[in-house]
Amino acid sequence: MTTPRRDTSDTPAWMNGNNTRAMAICRVSSKRQKDGVSLPMQESHVKEYAASVGLNIVEVRSFHESAKDASKRVEFDKTIEDALKRKIKHLVFYVNDRIARNFTDTEWLEELIREDRITLHISTSRAVLWEGSPDADFFLFDVLTAQAKQDNRKRRMVTLDGMGQRALMGWYPARVPFGYWQQPALDEHGRPKKRGGTVGGPTEAGRRLLRREMELHLEGCSLDTIRTKCLAEGLVPAELVRNYHRSTIEKHLKNPFYGGVEPRPDPANPHETFKSQMVWRGKLMPAKHEPVFTVEEWERLKGSFGLKSKYRKRKHGGLFADGPLSLTCGDEACGCKITFAPKFKKSGLTFAYYRCSDGKRVHRDNGEPQVNVNEEDILSQLGGAVDELDLSEKLAAAIAHELSATHLKANREKARLAEGYRAELRELEGKENRLYDRYDRGELDKATYERQTARLGDDRSACLERLRASDQAQDDTYLVTAQRVLELAKTAKNLWEEATPQEKRSIAEKMVCNPRLHGRTVRFSLRKPFDTVARMRGDGEWRAWRDSNPRPLASEANALSS
Ligand SMILES: [Zn+2]
Repeated sequence: MTTPRRDTSDTPAWMNGNNTRAMAICRVSSKRQKDGVSLPMQESHVKEYAASVGLNIVEVRSFHESAKDASKRVEFDKTIEDALKRKIKHLVFYVNDRIARNFTDTEWLEELIREDRITLHISTSRAVLWEGSPDADFFLFDVLTAQAKQDNRKRRMVTLDGMGQRALMGWYPARVPFGYWQQPALDEHGRPKKRGGTVGGPTEAGRRLLRREMELHLEGCSLDTIRTKCLAEGLVPAELVRNYHRSTIEKHLKNPFYGGVEPRPDPANPHETFKSQMVWRGKLMPAKHEPVFTVEEWERLKGSFGLKSKYRKRKHGGLFADGPLSLTCGDEACGCKITFAPKFKKSGLTFAYYRCSDGKRVHRDNGEPQVNVNEEDILSQLGGAVDELDLSEKLAAAIAHELSATHLKANREKARLAEGYRAELRELEGKENRLYDRYDRGELDKATYERQTARLGDDRSACLERLRASDQAQDDTYLVTAQRVLELAKTAKNLWEEATPQEKRSIAEKMVCNPRLHGRTVRFSLRKPFDTVARMRGDGEWRAWRDSNPRPLASEANALSS
């Protein structure tokens, strides 16, 4: 993932030793991919790359590995372990999205790389991840893993029923509320297609009525007054007049379907944006239809109805009583679960306390007094995660820039490959024509002609396959993911300060794992890829690296390569 430096010598920086032993690792993860990029194709590309950078391939591992079947993952782990045992330092993969499927993989690999025990190469993008790689590159690796996980999720989605699937795409799959309509996609003959429809609206009349109802309500009018006024102003469409009750207005103003949310891109469809919401099968979900109310208006509406708490847990059962953020005792001899132990005072006040369950009687036997820690205390200590991630605009921009530069480089390499394949295709076409001419002139018999045509056809489909593999259509998605991670890191502090305790917990759940309680102190680890972000921010290592290794800006890099 490293953008190569402008080398002063012929030896790349990552070749920090004499070990040029390399293992080519080709893997395919599903039936579909199996016929996408064939193993021989991966293998030859990897070998070509290795030769060009002076690596000596001593072993080729090719295996089929299903993403679904966890037991087959063992084979991947074993491959890496074999490489370590045989002192093979360089692992050369075909593409990066085949390397790690989960964060356990990436963590293990990163550790090995940082200890300088292995160096990772990706032949398609000619990227290298080695001990001296900047944190930005490791971060990109994490993001690619997140992307691979997301791809898996997408694949799983296919098994959902059609309606659920449509809802996940952001389109309300059933009868839509007042002011909207189902807009089916049409085929070339103008007939409605089964898939790909959207939700149309709002209609002008619908928008006008709903917005007027909202305005009047926010001014403090009663539902009765709103009803009378809207009828008098002629805003209620004829077909609705008969059934236009107070409850109709209330339903309108409380329906999340009409409310806007902060737009965010759909990682599966980079050109589409979630900008609204809907309730489907009892669940609030992001949606893509055009909302009637702005984000701010919708927030005010919710407040005005006291609806804010509806989608939150009402009863306070202890924020850390269970779930991913339930704590364990940090005492090594103990390690028991920290339980929720509220104290109810006569005054009616409840104090949310947590304490070690002391299941092994470690604390009691040591004669230690029971330690009760307040929930607020735990929450504010978890808030420390947010401080660790507080990125300055400048640093966030620098990381984003780094990522795009890396991306640009990978894309350019792909374009170069694609150009080569196209040339190959043209050449094959020429051969086909010449073959026909010879057959036409009677220099070849029919059997020979057919045999040779078939062989050319095979070459041709292999080449087309390669061309398809180097297609860069879907490739920008991980950048979107990266931007979102950075965005979250950047805005986390503001989010945190304005959040309710429940919201704080869910922010913390995204960023923190394995919380332990040492006496009254909460310790925790940051989840991937936030830990990398924190490291980039924290010790200045990343900045220092940048300053001492100035790289060309993307524009300069362009100029250099052209
Ligand atoms: Zn304990």
